[in-house]
Amino acid sequence: MTMENRKQCPYCAEIIDTKAIICKHCQSIIGGGSVEKSGTLVRVRVKTYEKVYSGDIFVPQHLDRVSDVINDSRHFIILINAKEELKTSDAPVGFLAINKAIIEWVRLIGA
Ligand SMILES: [Zn+2]
Repeated sequence: MTMENRKQCPYCAEIIDTKAIICKHCQSIIGGGSVEKSGTLVRVRVKTYEKVYSGDIFVPQHLDRVSDVINDSRHFIILINAKEELKTSDAPVGFLAINKAIIEWVRLIGA
């Protein structure tokens, strides 16, 4: 790995390969692309104090359950393909980091 192939993980600040999709240090998802081989995406609804979001949580292979992701040491959970649920329609918000401190609950969709 040469210097120009490296970048800093925005979540844990460790230096990783620019092509990395998932940080090897903190398992955060850095960019787009296939994540099928390294874990699964689980569809959830997340209620914060003010809003309800739906989206996909990435569960790395070394963790079995969504609750392991919720309870890990990071302060945020990452929602992919996230939508904010509004009364009239859903507003796509894409990629979302939600501070765990403001989460009231997380529920699995369709499990
Ligand atoms: Zn990281």
